[in-house]
Amino acid sequence: MASILPLLFIVAVVYLFFRMFRGAKNKYANIPTFLEYKEDNPECIKDRKVSCLHCGGNNIFLKQVGKTPKTILNVHVCKTCGETLYRSSI
Ligand SMILES: [Zn+2]
Repeated sequence: MASILPLLFIVAVVYLFFRMFRGAKNKYANIPTFLEYKEDNPECIKDRKVSCLHCGGNNIFLKQVGKTPKTILNVHVCKTCGETLYRSSI
C-alpha cells in the first residue's frame, strides 16, 4: 500500500501541471487580438497610434508570455495603468 503513494503523488503533480498549463492557454485565448481590439475600440486607434482603452495612455509595451515551437506569444500592456489590452503572436 505504501508503494502506491509516490505514484499517486506523481499523478497528482502531472495533473496539476497540465491543468495550470491549460488554464494559462485559455487565459491567453481570452485576450482579444489586435483586430478585435481595433474593432471593439475604434476610438483607441488614431493616426496608426494605439491608446489604452482604460486610461487613454499611449505608452504600450510588448510582453512575451509564451513560446511554442512555431510562434512567440505576446501581450500588449498599458504602461500607465498596467492593463493588458490585446495579444499578438510572431
Ligand atoms: Zn491604461
